This record gives sequence, C-alpha cells and structure tokens, in this order.
Amino acid sequence: MVLKLGGSVITVKDELMKADLENITRLAEEVAATGSKGLVAVHGGGSFGHPIARRYDLTEGLTSDRQVLGFARTHRAMVGLNALIVGALLEASVPAVSVTPSSFILAEGGRIASADFDVVRRLVERGLVPVLYGDAVLDRARGCCILSGDQLAVRLAVELEAPRLVFGVDIDGVYTSNPKLDPGAKLIDRLSLGKLGELVEIGGALTTDVTGGMLGKVSEASAAVEAGIEVLIVNASRPGVILKALRGEPVTGTTLVR
Ligand code: ADP
Repeated sequence: MVLKLGGSVITVKDELMKADLENITRLAEEVAATGSKGLVAVHGGGSFGHPIARRYDLTEGLTSDRQVLGFARTHRAMVGLNALIVGALLEASVPAVSVTPSSFILAEGGRIASADFDVVRRLVERGLVPVLYGDAVLDRARGCCILSGDQLAVRLAVELEAPRLVFGVDIDGVYTSNPKLDPGAKLIDRLSLGKLGELVEIGGALTTDVTGGMLGKVSEASAAVEAGIEVLIVNASRPGVILKALRGEPVTGTTLVR
C-alpha cells in the first residue's frame, strides 16, 4: 500500500519550516498499529519545501547560480522534514528508511521520466517502510522541477502494483468546492473522474485554488484509478482515520472511481 501524507497535515502551512509534531507522532503511531507490512510512505513539503522553492524561482528552471543554491536549499529543507517523519516512525518501532527522490529520479517537463523503483520494492519485501517525499529533482527539459509528493505517490502505487493508495489531507475528502472558503461545500464520497469538470465549474472563482490543491491531487490520482488501484482521500488530521483507511475499514472520505 502507498500512504501519502499531505504537507497540510504534517506541517503548519502558514509558518515557515514549522512541523506539526503532534500530528506526525500520532500518525506514526497509527502506522505502527497497522503492523506497517507492505507499506510505502510519501510526504509532501508543506511549509518546508514550497516557500524555499518559490523564493528561488525553481519552477523557472536552473539557469543561475542563485537557483542552483535554491535547489540545494529546497532539498535540504525536505531532508529535514523527512528526518522528523522517519524519526517519529522509528520511535513507534516502524522500520522506516529514508529514500531520497532526487538521487534516483529524473524528470522531463515536470513529469517523472526515468526512475528505477527496484530498490524501493526490495526494501518493502524485506519488511522495511521506505519514506519518500516531494523533492527538487533534475529535469531534462527545464534543468530542475519540483516533483510533487502526489505525483510520486501515484507513480509508486502504479509501479509497485499497490492494491490501495491513501491520501491523507487536512479535510474530509473532495468537496463540491473548497470547504475552507465555501460553507455550502458538500463532501463527495464517491467521485467519478468523469465528473471532475463539474467540480471545477462548481468551484467557480476558486478554480486556481482548486487546481493547486485538491484538483491537482485528483488529476494525478486518476492514473492510479485507471490502473485498478483503490484510491482514497481522507482526513489525516482526525485521529484514527489513517489507521482505518490502511486497514481497509470503512471511513469518511472520498473514493475515486472511473
Ligand atoms: P496537501 O498539502 O495535504 O497534499 P493541499 O493543501 O495541496 O494538500 O490540498 C488540499 C486542499 O485543497 C484543502 O485543504 C483545500 O483547502 C483545497 N481545496 C480546494 N478545492 C477543494 C475541493 N473541491 N475539495 C477539497 N479541498 C479543496
């Protein structure tokens, strides 16, 4: 199984480089309670990676020495966050091991173009829990790009033929529009990918926000749904939800379907 922990859950998004240690510790304990066999974890950047990547305009490529330094600093911020996650998992006796995306993944135009997941597969077979993350990676076309934890989680799930991919975010799932801005937003418990267009329409003026957040996630996840993987988006901020989702027990959230 692949578990993607959103940056919105493991960090305090509007405070630079601030981890949410309470959520991290609790989630590590929930992962431990599942037995953690056959699990790969991926986490997002939240207030660690993104603000630094933005400060150095890394989405513009890798053309100046300043951006080269920005690449290294963005990566370092993610290594720091990753160490907190891996540390919490080990504290809970989960045999977590950090796997660095930028050391073996090359992108092209922002999409994963070359990566060998054999080591990740073998780590899982040995009972270890690889912990990957969204990272600054080299890009054949642009010099570098920010590989999202969402894109990476979907690719891992497809390559490793995971039966289930769970996205943990800071809200209950996908709504008809952004619930943080629209009190009338309704949770969609089964979202068929064909209806995505309608979701954006309902989101109306909030389209950019939706694209950046939930819509981007759902669009990435469609490749996993097409591959026959059960994809769930649930609230990892609520205690016990990730535990249930990993165990395959019924839980509030959104299931993506074709
Ligand atoms: P993470 O960092 O946890 O991976 P994001 O913050 O990128 O997740 O995306 C989740 C956010 O997307 C939610 O907290 C919410 O503010 C926003 N969002 C926008 N539109 C929607 C929608 N239609 N349904 C649910 N969330 C939405």
